[in-house]
Amino acid sequence: MLSLIDSHCHLADEVFVPDLDAVVARAKAAGVASALCILSADEADELARVEKVASSWPEVKFAAAIHPHRAGPYQGRVDDAVRATRQAASAAGAVAIGEVGLDYHYDFSPRDVQRAVFAAQVALAVETSRPVVIHTREATDDTVAVLREAGQGRVRGVMHCFSGTIDEARQALDLGFFISLSGILTFPKAESLREVGRFVPADRVLVETDAPFLAPVPYRGKRNEPAWVAETIARLAAVRGMPVETLGAQVSENFARFVGAGA
Ligand SMILES: [Zn+2]
Ligand SMILES: [Zn+2]
Repeated sequence: MLSLIDSHCHLADEVFVPDLDAVVARAKAAGVASALCILSADEADELARVEKVASSWPEVKFAAAIHPHRAGPYQGRVDDAVRATRQAASAAGAVAIGEVGLDYHYDFSPRDVQRAVFAAQVALAVETSRPVVIHTREATDDTVAVLREAGQGRVRGVMHCFSGTIDEARQALDLGFFISLSGILTFPKAESLREVGRFVPADRVLVETDAPFLAPVPYRGKRNEPAWVAETIARLAAVRGMPVETLGAQVSENFARFVGAGA
């Protein structure tokens, strides 16, 4: 039987409010056994929806943090960012700290503030023995540097929505990280990412939707949802030349190791 995991989605986003139960039912029907729901630690509206997500889908796990896009207001008061993350993670019973990282593509927050907020949250993850969910865009060198320094060599985690080169994948693997592939893998122009999909060792690969964003082919442009992780994992299985059931089982096992169950 097919068992899939969506390792990164935003199910507590307001776009899922009208039909969350139907979204969860479609995920289960597609064989998605669990998902990691990412929370924005300083958005009260989103945090207020955690209970609803958890009751609609009891198998779902949570992660919480301040996203790099939202780091700006914490200039000069990084402690407040850490406090918000600590509180949200604790309230949601989060198994991971995330998403955290650096986004030099959009640069919605000054880079030095992004780095400070990122480093402080990595330190919190290490302190509380949680893995980190990393969002990094056009910032590989600084991301790796922060993980090395703030993580004191003890940080573990995942590079979410990985879209880098094989070389960048190798750097993440050297850190001991998982690599999570999104629906981008199904896009016609993503041949180099499919090569990364072939390259990542079986015991380090995860698959995600990043729903409501980044819907895979053939749903491109629509609101994404966890059920459609099946499209990405089918494509990855084809790329790796293996049955989708085998890859699904492997990804489920990897996810259990990522969240620390059965470790
Ligand atoms: Zn992200
Ligand atoms: Zn995300």
